[in-house]
Amino acid sequence: LGRAEHTPAYEVVVVGAGAIGLAIGWRAARRGLRTLVLDASDPMSGATGVAAGMLAPVTEADFGERELTRLNLVSARRWKPFAAELERASGIDVGYRETGTLTVAVDRDEAEALGRLHAYQRELELSAQWLSPRECRHLEPGLAPRVAGGILAPNDHQVSPRSLGRALVAALRSAGGELRTGRPVASVAGSAVELESGERLEAHAVVIAAGAESARLAVPAEARIAVRPVKGQILRLRARPPVQLPARRVVRTPEVYAVPRADGRLVVGATVEERGFDRSVTAGGVLELLRRAYEALPGVAELELVEASAGLRAATPDNGPVVGASGVPGIYWATGHWRNGILLAPLTADAIVGTLCGEEPPRELEPFSPGRFAAGERMAVMR
Ligand SMILES: Cc1cc2nc3c(=O)[nH]c(=O)nc-3n(C[C@H](O)[C@H](O)[C@H](O)COP(=O)(O)OP(=O)(O)OC[C@H]3O[C@@H](n4cnc5c(N)ncnc54)[C@H](O)[C@@H]3O)c2cc1C
Repeated sequence: LGRAEHTPAYEVVVVGAGAIGLAIGWRAARRGLRTLVLDASDPMSGATGVAAGMLAPVTEADFGERELTRLNLVSARRWKPFAAELERASGIDVGYRETGTLTVAVDRDEAEALGRLHAYQRELELSAQWLSPRECRHLEPGLAPRVAGGILAPNDHQVSPRSLGRALVAALRSAGGELRTGRPVASVAGSAVELESGERLEAHAVVIAAGAESARLAVPAEARIAVRPVKGQILRLRARPPVQLPARRVVRTPEVYAVPRADGRLVVGATVEERGFDRSVTAGGVLELLRRAYEALPGVAELELVEASAGLRAATPDNGPVVGASGVPGIYWATGHWRNGILLAPLTADAIVGTLCGEEPPRELEPFSPGRFAAGERMAVMR
């Protein structure tokens, strides 16, 4: 931590109370740092409050993103102890379930695409097994007869992001950290934070974890990064007895996913749309999600539709997160987590808090430092 001339009220101010900001706040407070988390609105009012909560490094592995897959795997391995410790600290069940994930093809084109994905997963020595149509239906009897094969990722699990958020708030407070809601931050300059209300706060370190809105904050030019919002619409359905959920584990196709919760809900998502900061739910989005889910799991039609919502993912030009010290002393970034911010919360929190305490961040984070965008910007200007 940098040392100001006088002692500010806080050692760490975190901007944003989503999964990332709250996890950082909890871990910092637990290490004895005087910590304040600020949110413009309520905790979890961003992407965290709508996310499905899949912890899926293998299923999400994409061609050309080896370093990101490696990072996702490291964080996935931390989830079980992280959840256990958080539950002990908060007394709240975070819905961590080791269900595994089955990705199926509903036609021949999808089977070919999944075949290529499976070959890539094997090349990376990931834990993924190819299953015949019969084997898929044996695992998940609710699958449509048309299913043409699939990939089982036995170690891709899930958590409930809303329960996670509640638990992090409780753990943050019980560790002595402070949370202030309804406090939009306007700008961050070094160790000074200015709220839209005009109030100014000082800290040794300011961590910006404002998700898709991170790039809207005014920061010095040398600290800037590239983050944009990508909208995702998502549905929550419910099985009322005697109706049962049509899946036991996470079931996906290349176009849609269905995440069964222990409380009888099914989360179906998600669209991927470049629409700026628009968060509206559209008839077309809901139609598309239900149609795709029904193709794989026809029993979806029997469920009650209880919620349709939309959130904004924080995307970067290379789909990787932005975690670590910025080009300006005192300002740290923890954003850009794209489709995997729930998965990456334990690793991001420990890496940021470790850095604040003078420790080396994990090797796997090296490719994801904020500096990579600053360098790109300078090169663009030189050309
Ligand atoms: C539909 C959908 C499904 C998803 N499914 C998954 C999944 O299955 N698994 C997974 O790992 N990830 C998933 N994600 C991604 C995941 O939700 C995000 O990566 C993660 O929630 C990011 O957390 P965060 O704390 O960085 O941001 P957010 O949760 O967006 O939180 C940012 C917070 O910052 C606050 N804020 C913004 N501006 C300011 C300001 N100026 N001052 C103060 N506060 C401010 C906001 O109010 C908000 O509370 C999904 C995302 C979407 C949209």
